[in-house]
Amino acid sequence: MRYDETLKNLMDRIDEGVYFVDLDRRITFWNRGAEKLSGYLSSDMVGFRCSDNLLRHITPEGKPLCGDGCPLAATIQDGEIRDVEVYMHHRDGSRQPVAVRAAPLSDQAGDVIGAIEIFSDRRDRREILKELEALRHEVLTDSLTGLGNRRALEIIAKARLESLEEGMHGFALLMADIDHFKRVNDTYGHEVGDRVLKMVASTLGSSVRPLDAAIRWGGEEFVLLCPNVGIDALAEVAERVRVVVEHSWIDLDDGSILRATISVGAALASKGESLGSILGRADTRLYEAKRTGRNRCVVGY
Ligand code: GH3
Ligand code: MG
Ligand code: MG
Repeated sequence: MRYDETLKNLMDRIDEGVYFVDLDRRITFWNRGAEKLSGYLSSDMVGFRCSDNLLRHITPEGKPLCGDGCPLAATIQDGEIRDVEVYMHHRDGSRQPVAVRAAPLSDQAGDVIGAIEIFSDRRDRREILKELEALRHEVLTDSLTGLGNRRALEIIAKARLESLEEGMHGFALLMADIDHFKRVNDTYGHEVGDRVLKMVASTLGSSVRPLDAAIRWGGEEFVLLCPNVGIDALAEVAERVRVVVEHSWIDLDDGSILRATISVGAALASKGESLGSILGRADTRLYEAKRTGRNRCVVGY
């Protein structure tokens, strides 16, 4: 296939990468945008078959597209336009996300004589949003337990404190700490310790209502933030989570079981105070619960 200069000039003016292939998927044209996006010059590409694996497109899941999945091959077959998000191999060795459109090229008689691929680094907005959401989730999640982390608590508490200022309902904050957890690690090893941590985290996460937040505050300490809980309900909530954890266990390899208990200190948020000050009250009460025997709750305003 030969292209006149006008067409080439036109194609070189757009930002998108554009290339043409013939029925053999041999590259017949490679525009300047394609050079920019891929790092490969027209002289590197023209004359080679895209199935020679120069670009080695892969799906976001890492599946190579050059064999069965090649959108150009499929488009040459059925004449349909295809849009796919792929990761392209860049000459510098990196992978670059590109949005690819494959469309058939026809001659005057309407017969398919090849295909055109247009690719750009302007990914679909939804795709970017999805990635941002995944990233946000990762940043706010504790990787061992899957609960929210400190950062998540700060964000949630800020919003709750703002609503409290606006006259909305208050919230309760519970701090729970696994009793004698060091002994678990020392006796059974860190791996079993981690399993106990995950078990307690999962029990805590499931024992609160959907609007409540379960947070891994650090080490073997957890924070629960429960909106719309008054002082009477607070004692009940604290006692319930303590009892539920007391009745959870993990199975050990030797057939025995291992239980854990928590001590809980809880406080109610009052207008005008900071997260730090609520945490401070809860922490003092947690210490009190530890001092007076563990596997206990101490609650207050
Ligand atoms: P107390 O009843 O007073 O809370 O006693 P404790 O032994 O639970 O408290 P201490 O603070 O002395 O020990 C906490 C232990 O938690 C020490 C630390 O090694 C362990 N720990 C912290 N983070 C992790 C973790 O991610 N995995 C495991 N396996 N252990 C952890
Ligand atoms: Mg502890
Ligand atoms: Mg602790």
